[in-house]
Amino acid sequence: MQSKRKVAIIHFTLNYEPMKKILGLAFIALLIGGCALNQVTGRKQLSLVPESELQLMAVSQYNTFLKENKVLSSSTSKAAMVDRVGARISGAIKKYYDGKGKSSILEGYKWEFNTVESPDANAWCMPGGKVVVYTGLLPLTQNEAGLAVVMGHEIAHSIAKHGNERMSQAMVQQMGGVALQVALAQKPQQTQDLFMMSYGIGSQVGAMLPWSRQQESEADKYGLIFAAMAGYDPREAIPFWQRMSAAGGAKPPEFLSTHPSDETRMKNMNKYMPEALKYYTGKK
Ligand SMILES: [Zn+2]
Repeated sequence: MQSKRKVAIIHFTLNYEPMKKILGLAFIALLIGGCALNQVTGRKQLSLVPESELQLMAVSQYNTFLKENKVLSSSTSKAAMVDRVGARISGAIKKYYDGKGKSSILEGYKWEFNTVESPDANAWCMPGGKVVVYTGLLPLTQNEAGLAVVMGHEIAHSIAKHGNERMSQAMVQQMGGVALQVALAQKPQQTQDLFMMSYGIGSQVGAMLPWSRQQESEADKYGLIFAAMAGYDPREAIPFWQRMSAAGGAKPPEFLSTHPSDETRMKNMNKYMPEALKYYTGKK
């Protein structure tokens, strides 16, 4: 967690030193108290908002998004492929965590997969398993395993509660750490905007936050594993990310603006591939 950013909100309102100190300590206590051990990643993450509340918010934001965009019928081959990959990945994840006695990781999940007609190369997953794939991504994924790699990556962000971590940080920075319900009642639009930004969803690329390097690393790792568990060859991730990177240029794909793509990505692929392959070949 980036402590520099977290203390930034107290900087200009206070100039009385002792008070500053006390509030600073209280603030740190709030942050420590708000940290929870993530069951998937084993990392302590800032988690000030109950996941169940985020899932509720996701339902309404997801439905609004679907109403405002052109959703492909599941009888089309593109949407059928997204549905198929989604069903295989979500099924494999459930089986895996149920088997480990960690069913609570997927508490409240009601998976939905939708494909929207859009030239943007993008995909995301809201809390509770609300997934959207944009048709503009499909020329880059090229095949089902390529698609599984991206969907696995997005689903990993959701299951590792990265959106919650970002939403919590944003609420501390911009709203003084009030409860989600209070924020929604007092500043509905700002709260909804924060939510969309925290999950990498938005119409303005400039307004979207990039995921942190650590969150990206975790999503790369578990994305490969989830795709492999679902029976897709994780090695497809390497040519996929190369195509993604080559597509970046004057107007990089929307996905790249929230998921920084660089040498680190390839390093992650090489680092996590052996473990992912064990799931693919049934050795794990
Ligand atoms: Zn990502």
